[in-house]
Amino acid sequence: MKIKVNSCVCDSENISSDTIIRVNSKILKSNSKLFDRTKSIAYPPFINSHDHLISNWYPKAGFGRTYPNVNIWVEDMKGTDSFLERNKVWINDGAFDLTEPAAAQIVLLGIYKNLFSGCAVVQDHIPKQKSSYYNNNLINVIKDYTQYHSLSLGNWWGGDSAEAEYAKTKSQIPFIIHLGEGIDNLAEQEFPKLKELNLLKSNTLLIHGISLSREQIKECAEAGTSICWCPNSNYYLIGETLDIYACMEYGVNVVLGTDSTMSGSINLLEEIKFAHQKFPHIPMQHIFEMFTTNAAKALRLPKEYGAINDSTSDLLLIKKHDQDPFRNLLQTGMDDIELMIHKGIPIYGDVEFLDEFIINEDDYYFFGKDRFVLGHPEKIISAFNKKLGYEKGFPFLPF
Ligand SMILES: [Zn+2]
Repeated sequence: MKIKVNSCVCDSENISSDTIIRVNSKILKSNSKLFDRTKSIAYPPFINSHDHLISNWYPKAGFGRTYPNVNIWVEDMKGTDSFLERNKVWINDGAFDLTEPAAAQIVLLGIYKNLFSGCAVVQDHIPKQKSSYYNNNLINVIKDYTQYHSLSLGNWWGGDSAEAEYAKTKSQIPFIIHLGEGIDNLAEQEFPKLKELNLLKSNTLLIHGISLSREQIKECAEAGTSICWCPNSNYYLIGETLDIYACMEYGVNVVLGTDSTMSGSINLLEEIKFAHQKFPHIPMQHIFEMFTTNAAKALRLPKEYGAINDSTSDLLLIKKHDQDPFRNLLQTGMDDIELMIHKGIPIYGDVEFLDEFIINEDDYYFFGKDRFVLGHPEKIISAFNKKLGYEKGFPFLPF
């Protein structure tokens, strides 16, 4: 299958115009079919570097106030309508086994949140799960990582000490830790403690870093440590965010994350828009790198992620609303994604593309005006509705 596109953003620095993209897949009916989509732009599928898949309930869990540090919110949010409503579907018994059926259903909802916003990869910050949790998902839920919740709260949700978790990485896979999610002393104490434990490393991925000073950000750059920026969640919970301009100045490898919908944007497409609205002077090209090449580097992903070329098994095809392919994403909604392919499998888009693949229609859900998605998200919603006794909607689902 070939698609003639207006342009292809192979990566942030390589953009080709009037290109024909060749889609590689073992399940194509023919290789010769040519689609004319000259009003569309091809991108590599996106990477969401921070989410909590079990917490993608809606609306946000808060009382309209901000907090000096996130630990206070973690307690406070247990009294919110959103948290209490999610409890009707799944109660956290503290074991954090997310392969258990009720949990798995919410996790799958979170996977769909990411899929419908063009993400083929998501980093789920959670204690390491059974291997079945990471296998055979609709998109790549990254398996190779170790984690610590935060140095102020410890690994309360499960896992070993920070040093032991880091040692397991053997310097090869990411070590992921919330850090400096606040503006008070407690948040500020985390970075010195991280250094004391000798965990400021090139495979360390710090989540948030709101409390980091310019000097500390410079140290992250020198150590090659990556930082995940979640601006929407940060402003909602703390009223402040990472010093992103210092990160740009010192050359930190910054990646973008949504966090869960209990505190962050409804999906990555909205997070991109939010980042731009708050920081319009950051070139969109740099923001693009945060959820493509920078993310692939921080998460130590294989070569096929974060960039594509004109012969590919991974593709995100999006309607063109703006001549600038980076600014185009500021006008992109879920419905503007015409086709998403991951590892040669069509997972979301227009049915006319799906017709070119040898698939079992029962494996797909069809909705709207000739749209398809892999799997059956509608079944999750009916199961929730049954448990809740009323109809529940989620703004990150396009049906
Ligand atoms: Zn988080």
